[in-house]
This record gives sequence, C-alpha cells and structure tokens, in this order.
Amino acid sequence: MTMLNDHQIAQNADIKPIDDIGNKIGLTAKHLIPYGKHKAKIDLTDMANLPNRHGKLILVTAINPTPAGEGKTTVTIGLADAINQLTPSTGKTAMVAMREPSLGPVFGMKGGAAGGGHAQVIPMEDINLHFTGDLHAIGAANNLLAALIDNHIYQGNALNIDPKRVLWRRAIDMNDRQLRNIISGCGDATDGMTREDGFDITVASEVMAVFCLANDLSDLKTRLGNMLVAYNRDKQPIYAKDLHAHGAMTALLKDAIKPNLVQTLEGTPAIVHGGPFANIAHGCNSVIASKTALHLSDYCITEAGFGADLGAEKFCDIKCRLSGLQPDMAVIVATIRALKYNGGAKKDELIQENLSALQQGLPNLLKHIDNMQGIFGLPVVVAINRFITDTQAEIDMITEACQSLGVSVALCDVWEKGGQGGIELAKKVLSLTDESKHNPSKTAPSSFGFAYDVNDSIKDKILAISQRVYGADDIKLSGHALNQIRRLEKLGLDKLPICMAKTQYSFSDNPKLLGRPKGFTIHVRDLTVATGAGFIIAICGSIMRMPGLPKQPAAQHIDVNDDGEIIGLF
Ligand code: ADP
Ligand code: MG
Repeated sequence: MTMLNDHQIAQNADIKPIDDIGNKIGLTAKHLIPYGKHKAKIDLTDMANLPNRHGKLILVTAINPTPAGEGKTTVTIGLADAINQLTPSTGKTAMVAMREPSLGPVFGMKGGAAGGGHAQVIPMEDINLHFTGDLHAIGAANNLLAALIDNHIYQGNALNIDPKRVLWRRAIDMNDRQLRNIISGCGDATDGMTREDGFDITVASEVMAVFCLANDLSDLKTRLGNMLVAYNRDKQPIYAKDLHAHGAMTALLKDAIKPNLVQTLEGTPAIVHGGPFANIAHGCNSVIASKTALHLSDYCITEAGFGADLGAEKFCDIKCRLSGLQPDMAVIVATIRALKYNGGAKKDELIQENLSALQQGLPNLLKHIDNMQGIFGLPVVVAINRFITDTQAEIDMITEACQSLGVSVALCDVWEKGGQGGIELAKKVLSLTDESKHNPSKTAPSSFGFAYDVNDSIKDKILAISQRVYGADDIKLSGHALNQIRRLEKLGLDKLPICMAKTQYSFSDNPKLLGRPKGFTIHVRDLTVATGAGFIIAICGSIMRMPGLPKQPAAQHIDVNDDGEIIGLF
C-alpha cells in the first residue's frame, strides 16, 4: 500500500455539494450563500426559526507540544466524524468549529491548518489559501483604520494625536519580516508625516480578535469603535470611534463575519471562521462560529491554539467569559513523542521507544489534566493521538498512568483511519457528557469556573494564572509593565481578562523548561491593552507579531500543474 500525503488524500475525497452538507443540519438554500460549489457562508438572519439543538461544547486542547504540533485539529475533526458515525445508534450529531488558516504558516514552516491524514476539512487548498476572503477583509479593515489615522494627522490633526504615540500598525497576511519595522510617510510635505511604523501579520491584528469575540454585527461595530489606536499629546487615549472609522470598517467586514461552512473528508459539517494568534490574542475561532454550531448540532467540537496552559486557559477565561459560552468537557490531546520530548528526549530521537523519557514527561500531561478538572471544573478525556512509531509498551504506560488517577483515556487513530479511528474517544465523550448519568435533573449548576476574578487587580490576575495554571512560584513585572498597569488603572481599563503572551513549549516563560517545571518565576516584560477585543495582553519574553519565513519556505514547494490543480500544499 502506498502512503498518500494529506494533500493527496484530500484531492481523492468524494467531496459533496455544499447544499448537501447544509441540508444535514437543516440549512436550506435561503440560509446558504454559496462561494463556489464546496464553500458557503451561512446567513444567520433566519437562525431563530431553525430548531436550537443547544449542543454541547467540547474543547479539544493539548499538552505542551513539540514544534511540529500534536494533532489538536486532526483530533477535533476525527472526533466529530466519529460521533457522526455513531449517529444511527445514538441519535447525536456533531459539527466542527475551527480557525481559518493564515497564509503566513502555509508558506512558511508549519504548513496548512486543515487537519491531517484521514481527518481533514476540505477543500483544503481553498481553506488554506484565499478561502472566502475573510483574512483579506480583516486586513483591509485594519489598513483603513491605519490610513484614517495618518490622514487625520496630515489633515491638521484636530484630535492632537501624538505621532510618536500611534499604537495602531498596518497588517498583511504574510510572513514578511522586512515589514516588521519601517519608516512610513517618507518624501515631500504632501507625502504624509514621516514616522516609525510597522506591519503585523493580519491574524495578530486586534481586528481579528474583535472579529472572533463579536456576538453579532452591531457588537462588532461597537468593539471596533472601542479599539485604542493612539494617545494625544496630553496622553489621553484616542479610540477608533474618535476617527469615525468603525462604520466603514464594519462595512468591509459585513460578509466576512458570516460563518463559513465546509465539510470534513467524511461529510461532517464544519464551520471554519476567524483565526487570531494564540499568543498576543486568544487563539480560538469566532464566537459566532461556535454559537452557530451549538445551535445546529448536538456536539460542537472546537479547538484552542497551543497547549492547554495557553489555549484552554484563554478559551475559558477570555472567550467563554466574554461570550457566555460554557464548555461541557475537555479532550486533552497527548502524543507519545511530545511526552518523550517533555521528558528530555532529543527532537531527532522521538521515534525510538524510550520509556524512561516518557515516564519523565508524564507529569506535563498530569498537570494539564489537573488544571482542566480542578481549576476549570471540566470532565476530561485524554486522547492519545497515535503515531505509527508509538510502541505498545509506551501506549500502555500512558494509559495506566491515566487510569490509576481515574482519568478517562482513549487511543485515537483518526489520522490513519478517519472517524473509525475515533470511535473509542467518541464513546467516552458521549458518556462523560451524558446528562442522564451526570445531571439527571438537568438543573444542577455546572462546576465550570474561571482561573481568576476579572475584578481583581491586574497583578493578582496574572499571579493567579501563573501560580494556579502554570505552577509558578511568583511573578516579576518589569518597571515598564508596572507603569502600564498604573496607566491602565487610571484609565479604568484594568477590569478586563488577561491574555498571556508566552512560549507554548513550557508551562514557564522559558521554552527550554519542559515537563512540569517547578520553582520558576513568570517575567512580565510589557503590557498592552486590546480595548475593542476586551483584554489586557501580558507579554512574557519576546513575542512576534510579524513572523519571518524560514530558510526553506514551504512556498518553494507549492505549484500549480497544467490542469490548474495546486500541488505541494501540506
Ligand atoms: P495542531 O492542531 O495541534 O497544531 P495538527 O492537527 O494541525 O496539530 O497536526 C500537525 C501535523 O501533524 C499535521 O501535519 C498532521 O497531518 C500531523 N499529524 C497529526 N496527527 C498525526 C498522527 N497521528 N500521525 C502522523 N501525523 C499526524
Ligand atoms: Mg491546530
């Protein structure tokens, strides 16, 4: 048997017309705005007339990963497919809600973000490239605001904006380090005001975070207007609404904000919408996508970026807190190779059996389990995302470690087998969320909770995340961060949730401290505020808002053949 790569599997798929996929969840022609044959935006105006299935929200998260990614997206898709394979006996339906990819990683190092193996969303070329144009619309809205700010300064600067205190940057959906720091407005007096400027990748724009947290079009407009863009010469804040920018920005986003419907390889309806960075933003698909999937199916399977220390924490403390969503349980994806990596095995030795490294790495998984159950109050199942190099002895070791703690665990083979490889996981998810077992009266209060009280001081909130979620001893704030805290307190902007921007590789802020580190301090270098999105960003270490391309960019292997088919995407 020849092994097909992700792209070949996707190209061989029996892709269904998008109407057929919509029909599975009760959407008819009037609810679908087709973008070609296999993609559609969902028109939400008539949603209230569609039966609300009040689905359960299943968060797929992970241990601290290796640089290659541990398969959260793949497991998310495979789990939804598996639940749908069981529909004839359970009557339960599932949908996927996930982020839309950015061109940066597609052409850079990581590749696409449409799942892998036999658990993918399709058409993967479209989803990974321009899709329905949402990222371009978000970039345009970001850059309209940038143009309005500079034009305001040029045209007399009635708001007295301090050109040295313009916070708003330009955006492009590309890994282009050359644009990270630039001088703009060079030239003659009529060519604008010369100042230091720069570009962020579009997914790092606050417009993307706002897009993903907005409940509807009018909330989107309000949030866009509330974005802090500059300070004036009296150090008073200037918001996008002061420049009357938010109406036109919303006009650019009015179609993009409608969720995108596609399908998995097995025909499961999938909403792929919004995709903010997981470090300086919260890293989850749009609230609108999640709410739509919860309305239309019994299970919404969704993913949060990075490991559970960052992804799941922000999913709960930011996305759920701001939108009123409540997860019903968490699936923690673990791979044997990442546990061995966490246990000290070298990157190029991860395919060899190494029980002692695995044993050393296990506390990483156990801490994430503990956090999900103890802090956020969520039932947990561990999904071991199986790689062909895993040995039985290794699988047994993780399984036994989980079972000895009474934690549900399932071996997951969706990459190799599609939904069929996720049946055990699906059954455990269905059982852990079965109300007749756990909540007979349906009135018992959920035990879902947050890691901190949003009304605590900024410092206490950061301390709570660092100590409770990361297991740190203490935090250390730079002088600059302390000044920012005082400024935010003065402006009354301190009662917002915290978005931690730190490395995804460690519970700590040091990417080399793997496993379950102890006795460490979290260093907060800087703080910024995203007043439209509604969170304070605590920056630990150096965080990139505009990545660069690697020495061997993936773009160099992407091509189109004479039949117009894209090749070399992964
Ligand atoms: P994440 O969402 O955690 O970043 P992805 O699901 O995108 O991870 O997977 C990262 C990469 O690993 C993808 O290229 C995917 O095809 C591959 N992958 C995932 N699971 C497996 C597996 N069990 N065996 C082999 N490759 C896998
Ligand atoms: Mg992913």
